[in-house]
Amino acid sequence: AFPLDAVSENYVRRNVPNAIFSVVDPTPLRGQTVLAGISPAALELIDLHPDVASSSLFHDFVSGAWQHPSSTPMAHRYGGYQFGWWAEQLGDGRAHLLGHYTNRKGEWWELQLKGSGKTPYSRNGDGRAVIRSSVREFLAAEAMDALGFRTSRCASLVVGDELAIRDQFYDGKMKMEKTAVVLRLALTWFRFGSLEILSKRNEVESLKFLVDHIIRKHFKTVLITDPDRYLSMFSAVVEDTAEMIAQWQSVGFTHGVMNTDNMSIMSITIDYGPFGFMDMYDPNFIPNSSDDEGLYSYQNQPQIGFNNLERLGNALLQLLTQEQTHQVKIILNGYDSKFKMAYLSLFSKKLGLQTFKQKDEQLINNLLNMMMVNKADFTMTFWELGHVSLKEIEAKKLPQDFWALNKIITDDKFQKFLDMYKIRLREEESTDDIRQGIMALTNPKYVLRNWIAHQIIEEVEQGNFCSFNEFFRVLRNPFQRQDEAEKKGYANAPPDWSRKLRVSCSS
Ligand code: AMP
Ligand code: MG
Ligand code: MG
Repeated sequence: AFPLDAVSENYVRRNVPNAIFSVVDPTPLRGQTVLAGISPAALELIDLHPDVASSSLFHDFVSGAWQHPSSTPMAHRYGGYQFGWWAEQLGDGRAHLLGHYTNRKGEWWELQLKGSGKTPYSRNGDGRAVIRSSVREFLAAEAMDALGFRTSRCASLVVGDELAIRDQFYDGKMKMEKTAVVLRLALTWFRFGSLEILSKRNEVESLKFLVDHIIRKHFKTVLITDPDRYLSMFSAVVEDTAEMIAQWQSVGFTHGVMNTDNMSIMSITIDYGPFGFMDMYDPNFIPNSSDDEGLYSYQNQPQIGFNNLERLGNALLQLLTQEQTHQVKIILNGYDSKFKMAYLSLFSKKLGLQTFKQKDEQLINNLLNMMMVNKADFTMTFWELGHVSLKEIEAKKLPQDFWALNKIITDDKFQKFLDMYKIRLREEESTDDIRQGIMALTNPKYVLRNWIAHQIIEEVEQGNFCSFNEFFRVLRNPFQRQDEAEKKGYANAPPDWSRKLRVSCSS
């Protein structure tokens, strides 16, 4: 019942008025395609057993060559603010929504192919995604889920030998690269930009239709008959987005392109592009080499989240009464404290504390400061701290290998941190079991480091999927030390050769 644009050919058309979707079929990759990997956990969300991976029908389905008879593939029309500027209509330029599926548990999942060909929203793009970006998205989404955070998912990765031309960024050259198709799942793919385009174009009826649909389907605690429902929904998005960004900060994840078209209305992480999990702790970490100004740096993420929510609020204004309009500001004013609470609560867990006290903010900042000055590895430092004993902390004698090697142990700031930490742990009568137990569930050993992704991508491009699948399994179990992963150095800081690596938008 959505306002539809009845285009059914793959031609590119810039402006599509009065529609939320365009009906358009995927274009399967030309030539040979191979299923490089699946995520059994993601397939389970749509009630599929991993064994289906061997069927040719499944292969055709996930590569876009065969559609389920009940499916009407569509591309979604959305807009967005890109790097601070209203970019007009964007939309699914290389993705097709295949439909939704309600699983045995009653959960609603929307299935989408990415890299599946041109749509009316492709603009100058080719409708394809290269192996590089598809591998990164697949691994990142499934890793984020394994870290315990709400995210879009990836169920399968198909690679082909159809080529696409892409900028390489670090050597100034363009190169032909092999392409891929990923089957992605999300509670819903609607974004802030889904509402923004309708508001900007004064398509108020469609706007109301879409927001009501989203409330009915996805905000079960909000009554559709409630005259304040748009405010209630907005309030939930503000809270959940603050929580999502706090989670990002807690694992050093930097999204890279926090444009409003990449912000999920369900506050799940979507559109993994030039993201990065930081190696050494650097608040100014910028994973996206096209982000010259560092607008979307690690430390800017909380503020950008706020700015984007403000824009979402603006998109809702046309649905609000004069009186309700004032509430938007008030709801937005709650963002900072919600973010801070979520952030401090997560970081106090990273220190193994059982409760959060106001003064812990100082403790956390002391550690982070020390890490910044010493260029300490973010993931490793928290992991290692979770493996020292109370006795060692009391004596300020930490195991030599990590702490001495990195000269951290002799740092004044670290000594001061240990003094505060010691007192704090005594105060809550912590034990090794309790503290290490909390930290073991909070501090991963393995994250998707860019240097590892790079090596795996090169292998996948050669048709070798072993490391890809092996690293996938490691990332699905990120809190557990794994012998095989250690042998491969998957927890290691980046080697020198990897310094030249760059990632960028829309590859
Ligand atoms: P992104 O930076 O990946 O979030 O993409 C921004 C916009 O560009 C979205 O509307 C995408 O669908 C579109 N886009 C990116 N790459 C391509 C491509 N190769 N072909 C068509 N559209 C694309
Ligand atoms: Mg059809
Ligand atoms: Mg996007």
